[in-house]
Amino acid sequence: MREMVRATCENRPGVYRMLGPTGNVLYVGQSRVLRTRLLSYFRAKGRGNKAARILRHAFHIEWEFAHTEFAALLRELRLIKQYRPRFNRMMVTDDWPRGYVALTGGAVPGLRVVPRSDHPSAIAMFGPFRKVAELRESVRALADTMQLRDCTLEDTSRRTTMLWFAKDSDHAVTSATSTRTRVPGCLRHALHTCAGPCIGEGDSAHYRAQAQMVRAFLEGQSDAPVVALKRDMQHASDTMEFERAAVIRDRLARVHWLQQRVLHFHANMDRLTFQYRATGPDGREFVYLIRRGTIRAEVVAPATDVEHAQLQTLATRIFEGPDPSGADIPLHDLDEFYLVASWFRRRPHERERTTS
Ligand code: SF4
Repeated sequence: MREMVRATCENRPGVYRMLGPTGNVLYVGQSRVLRTRLLSYFRAKGRGNKAARILRHAFHIEWEFAHTEFAALLRELRLIKQYRPRFNRMMVTDDWPRGYVALTGGAVPGLRVVPRSDHPSAIAMFGPFRKVAELRESVRALADTMQLRDCTLEDTSRRTTMLWFAKDSDHAVTSATSTRTRVPGCLRHALHTCAGPCIGEGDSAHYRAQAQMVRAFLEGQSDAPVVALKRDMQHASDTMEFERAAVIRDRLARVHWLQQRVLHFHANMDRLTFQYRATGPDGREFVYLIRRGTIRAEVVAPATDVEHAQLQTLATRIFEGPDPSGADIPLHDLDEFYLVASWFRRRPHERERTTS
């Protein structure tokens, strides 16, 4: 492998894959100087050394060049998401625990905090956010306010569909639907903080409308939960239910905390909307059209009037056309947003190469 790298690899930005005996991808990496990076693997020694460990398991190395270092980072990210290589997963270290707010889909949408952006049942995802303990409390407060479920029981959706179907269609309650098993350990329905879909309680249309409201809130387009909490607090105070008013006040503070983070998150996404010019090692320039933190197009920098006009047309379509992802960032693009954000945070001078 070393001789192959020496003979054919060049010192340009690129991405490499370490392959196992069956061609399975063990590790994906990238470098601004690919040849130097790959040769460094063959000098690595010691049991605890990451490069040495990967090389011990590798049977083959594949690589591809990228136009720029920025493009190499993006390609690495996409390959890691495609292959989910064993060594990349093992070596994920995050000094700052993060959480994502996930809205789960299905007949009975749910709301909860998850640790990763690729949660299988999420239909909308927001984050990542730090201060995970506060995040959990705030998301629970929001779920309590809107009476949404936050449980992880996989069969809740299926069982509730049956129960709601029986109620909505006025069917006789069958033996399947009459077995209303309360989920062990969860008191939220008893405390009136969840509609109780696990036992077929609540109205399906109302429940889904509440979930839609939560989605709009997390998209920064509605403050319905805050308005509802303020109204309830005022009512509790007017009727001299001071203990209840205090509980609602605390819940309001948590939901407000989450609202601030969500608005900040969307403002950050909006700030990452521009054209970015990056230069490759051979001096060629490329233009990346980035909208809300995701790369929508990469083109060679225009040189002629015709090419300038073509780029302008493309930019108008991307920046002024409807955003196919709406207010959400597509689930599969959250990591890309994070990568783009951290690229410009760590290299503030690169901001000078962007234009709105
Ligand atoms: S009351 Fe039922 S649906 Fe609601 S969170 Fe608890 S287990 Fe889930």
